[in-house]
Amino acid sequence: MDLPVRLPTSLRAGMMCRCPRCSQGPLFSGFLEVAPSCEICGLDYGFADPADGPAFFVMTGIGILVMGGWAWWAVAVHPPAWQQYLAILVGLLGGCLATLRPVKAWLIAEQFVHKAGEGHWISLGGHGTGGFVIDRRNPRGPGRSSAGR
Ligand SMILES: [Zn+2]
Repeated sequence: MDLPVRLPTSLRAGMMCRCPRCSQGPLFSGFLEVAPSCEICGLDYGFADPADGPAFFVMTGIGILVMGGWAWWAVAVHPPAWQQYLAILVGLLGGCLATLRPVKAWLIAEQFVHKAGEGHWISLGGHGTGGFVIDRRNPRGPGRSSAGR
């Protein structure tokens, strides 16, 4: 297995819908279904969980662009209503379907690059020991100096 010397940027890997580590293997096994692992380098895609982030960013971005374009067009040209409805429908559907896949791949690549994952709580104290210790450098709690022990 030969890995490229130059690592891919997360944006490039996302736009190409490729593996964030080797940028060779496909990231998806379906339209939006993430493959179990990379066919080329074997990277396990189990970490990939962008949740509804791609849908939010795509919906917001395309919505703003299409509605802005429609507003300008409606004021400047005064097209018939049916043309406006058709243009909005095609713009929203086409724009969202065209960008959802690369945006999802880009967010997964960002997860890989930044090692983003689910947060884990650690206990800093316990019952009967003064509760949580917020600042580890000052175990007596906020507002109290640990210098005068
Ligand atoms: Zn790979």
